[in-house]
This record gives sequence, structure tokens and C-alpha cells, in this order.
Amino acid sequence: TKGSKGSSDQGKFEIGLTEAEMGKVVTRFPPEPSGYLHIGHAKAALLNQYFAQTYKGKLIIRFDDTNPSKEKTEYEESIKEDLALIGVDSSIVTHTSDYFDQMYDLALKIIKEGNAYVDNTDQATMRDERMKGIPSKSRDLSVEENLRRFEEMKNATEFGQTCCLRAKISPDDPNGTLRDPVIYRCNLTPHHYTGDKWKIYPTYDFACPIVDSLEGVTHALRTNEYRDRNPQYDWMLKTLSLRHVTIWDFSRINFVYTLLSKRKLQWFVDQGIVGGWDDPRFPTVRGIRRRGMTIEALKQYILMQGASQNTLLLEWDKLWALNRKVIDPIAPRHTAVLSDKIVHVNVQGAPATPEVKETLKHKKNTELGTKKTTYSNKIVLDQEDAKTLEVGEEITLMDWGNAFVRNVAKNEAGEVTSVDLELYLEGDFKKTKKKLSWLSYGDEVAHVLLVDYDFLITKKKVEEGDSVEQLVTPVSEFKVPAVADANVKDLKKGDIIQFERKGFYILDEPATESAPAHFICVPDGKAASIG
Ligand code: ATP
Ligand code: MG
Ligand code: MG
Repeated sequence: TKGSKGSSDQGKFEIGLTEAEMGKVVTRFPPEPSGYLHIGHAKAALLNQYFAQTYKGKLIIRFDDTNPSKEKTEYEESIKEDLALIGVDSSIVTHTSDYFDQMYDLALKIIKEGNAYVDNTDQATMRDERMKGIPSKSRDLSVEENLRRFEEMKNATEFGQTCCLRAKISPDDPNGTLRDPVIYRCNLTPHHYTGDKWKIYPTYDFACPIVDSLEGVTHALRTNEYRDRNPQYDWMLKTLSLRHVTIWDFSRINFVYTLLSKRKLQWFVDQGIVGGWDDPRFPTVRGIRRRGMTIEALKQYILMQGASQNTLLLEWDKLWALNRKVIDPIAPRHTAVLSDKIVHVNVQGAPATPEVKETLKHKKNTELGTKKTTYSNKIVLDQEDAKTLEVGEEITLMDWGNAFVRNVAKNEAGEVTSVDLELYLEGDFKKTKKKLSWLSYGDEVAHVLLVDYDFLITKKKVEEGDSVEQLVTPVSEFKVPAVADANVKDLKKGDIIQFERKGFYILDEPATESAPAHFICVPDGKAASIG
């Protein structure tokens, strides 16, 4: 029962919900407060938000805090920040722990009605019995005995700690998730909200349907590896006489050359291989935003996949290509020349005293305004461009005009050491093959660092059993110094620009007195075609 194709009023993405009424849809994004969000979480959050908005309903951010051993309050703040970074509203926040009292009452109810039992079978035996479909020795205990044992669990007595509460669904159903799943277990770690009030905690299988129902969730979005669990979810609600909730499942996403797992990403942080959770090589929300991913492109990308049910191993190129479409029309154009083997050029016919003119930041988007371009007879070129020059050739200096190459001096290694040009402004730029980026070189230039990255790991698809340690790319960060036009001194952290003929860059760290500005290269997915 899933709505794969929605009606036309659900917009261009053609995904809709079944049993959805305008104004009444309630969805929820339920992260565990145990780390930072990655792009997989972003898919879940954006889909939930999309349906809440499409049906003019609401989105609940629910911190799923039922495992005190893994969770911390500080992660709630970082997750809210992560949500803000992808444009997801987190004004409605709840916690699974808000419902501990009600869930305890429901646990008593389910025991009293003979639909759950307290089992002291050890873990290994329980696993084995579930696999083989053998009923537990505790399965037919009396209600009284179950209540007595549950009280021991609640008080975490020595015996109580050896027990767990199990739903009495079936010992041997072909669907393994229905084989008397555990619904409460002991944990003595204090909880970050409820402290030591509880020594027993509901499992996800019990808590999720109950809280969904109590909170008024109409559509529970879950990744489809839970599909086997759907009958169990429905069983809980029916058995407890709680309001029905519709499940809508979607596929997990994975990306090539990375890992979408908090635990595995933590390893890179702990080893010092990355600077932190916001490292631009990380698939975290923080990482991709820092590398120049826009909210707009991320949203489009997620919704484009819509209701696809295949667990996808995705290439990064398409996402970055979409991002390029978003930033290209609005990224101001600037110029940078690489400092390494920079080539100094004398320009005959150019003003000896530098002249400054206002030029457009973006020729096709005049709304971006103007920048200051300096024209003088002392300019610089990239070594790579200079190497191609031939004496007598007519070339174009971008945003200036044509010039003839009069002299090219080289050293023994074949590197260009200096060039002489002669301006020929009446020349036709349509007739030249080479359009060169150049920079007037004086006190006014900005010294910058251009930073680019390779993938963190060398294997496209990491498999179970792979040792990540052996897959780490030896060097995956590259920094090259450059000089840029002085206008970049006015940019703010997070601004995205284009260095002409080099690519898009995001200002990561503005210059300080002792350090140049850091610009991170925004991947442009050039290798991919969209669609
Ligand atoms: P991790 O293994 O990285 O800790 P998780 O699934 O345990 O991820 P949760 O905080 O429980 O993390 O996830 C919150 C929501 O995000 C869940 O609804 C989950 O289905 C969804 N989600 C997590 N990873 C992905 C993914 N790769 N693709 C799509 N949705 C995902
Ligand atoms: Mg989880
Ligand atoms: Mg997980």
C-alpha cells in the first residue's frame, strides 16, 4: 500500500502518500542523538519535510533516545544545527523519552492481556531458538509471574537484569521479526533526561509504533530494510488498541568512495585523518555544505529519486552537477593565478599607472553588481597558459582585449620566466583561440590558498569485512597558493564564487593577518550528465 506515483498537484516530483488528507498529514524524522547527520539522514529529513509541506501538515523532529549508552544531549543541538544547514525546520521537537511513563503503562497492559512475557533465557540461546523457531521456556508463564518478573526488571534486581520483555506474537513465523521480539530491556546507564528514574528501556520495535501513534503521526516514513518489520509494527498498534499509522517506505542511499555510518566516520575523526565532522571530504551535512553544496541542489537531488525502492549506490557527480546548475547563475566571477611558477608579463601600450574600472561580477547576471578591475602594464599569468604562447601570436586577455605576443623567455627547464605582450585593443576577440585569465600584479592582489580534495578512501564500494584502515587514500588534501583579484577580500565565509577558467570555490576561511584566505574547490560533476 504505497503511493509511488502521486497526482499532478504534488508537483514535479510525482511522489505522494496514500491515505493523505490536505492539512492533516503529520510526519516525523527520528534521529538517534548519537552523532552528526550524514547525507543519508538528509534524505530522510528532506522527504519527511517534503510531505509535511506538500500536504500542509507538520513535521516532528523526534529524538529517538531509548539507548542511554549511546546518546548525549549535546548531539541534539548539533543535529538541530545540521537540520538548519539543509533547510529543515526543527521548531517541533519531541523525545521518545517523553513517553516512558506511557510506554511503561502499555507494557503492563500488554502483559496483563497475555500478549507479552518476561524471558530470562540468555542471549545466545534466545538467538538460536529464534533462528530455529523454538518457543522459549518462559513463553507460557502466568500473567502474575510475568508481572512479578517485570517488576524485578524495573528494579534491576540481579534476576531482573537477566531478563527482557518479549512480545508474544509467534515462536516460528516465517517472518523472523515476528518471532517474539524483545520490547523492553534493562540498562543501568543513566539517561540524559530521565536520569536514573528508569532501569528498563523500550526497544525501537515497541517505542516506534507507540510514539508514532500517540504523537498523531499519520505517515511513518521508514527505510525499506524495515519492511519485514511492518507486520510487527501493525501488530503492536492493534494489540495495544492504538490509532493506526500508515507506513511509507523509501530506499536507503549510499555513495561511492565513502561510508555512511556514524561509527565508521567516528574512526576517521579519532585517527586524526580528517579535521572533524565538518571535514569537506566527509559525507556529513556539515562536510558537504562546507564544500559548497547548496540546500537547493540537495533537495532537488533527493526528491528526484522519489519513491525508488532500490538501495542505491550513488555517484557524487550528478549531485555536484545539479549543484553547479544552482550556483553557476549566481556565483560572482573572480580571477586567480597560481603562485607556483607565476609568469610576470610586461604589457606595452597599457597604462603605467594602474587604472581601476568597475566591471560586472557576472556578465549574465547584472544584479550581482560590479567589482573593481585593475589594468596596468605589469600583469601575471599562469605558467600553464604562458607555456602555450608563441611569439607573434594574437591572444585575448579576458575582459580587456587582444594583444600580440612579442617575446617569451624560458629557462633551461623549459619554464617561461617572462613574457612581453603588446596591446592591440582593436583586435577581434572572436578570432583568437586563447582567452587568458590575467591579473594586474601590484600591492593590491590578495594572497589565497586553493584547496582541493580527493576521496577519503580508495575503494568504490566498501563491503562488510573490508578493513577501512587499508583503504585510506594516502594523501587526499591538496593546497596550492595563488594570487587573486583584491575584490575577494570583501567575501564572507561560505560565499561561493568562480575563479574564471579554474572552477567554483567556496570561501572557507577569510584571510587573517598571518594566514591567506582558504578557498575550497566546489566539485562541479563535469564528468556526469544530468537526468
Ligand atoms: P547510522 O548508522 O549512520 O548511525 P542510523 O540509521 O542508525 O544511521 P538514525 O539516527 O537512527 O541513524 O537515523 C535517523 C533516520 O535516518 C532514520 O529514519 C533512518 O532510516 C534514516 N537514515 C539513516 N541512514 C540513511 C541512509 N543511508 N539513507 C536513507 N535514510 C537513512
Ligand atoms: Mg538508527
Ligand atoms: Mg545505523
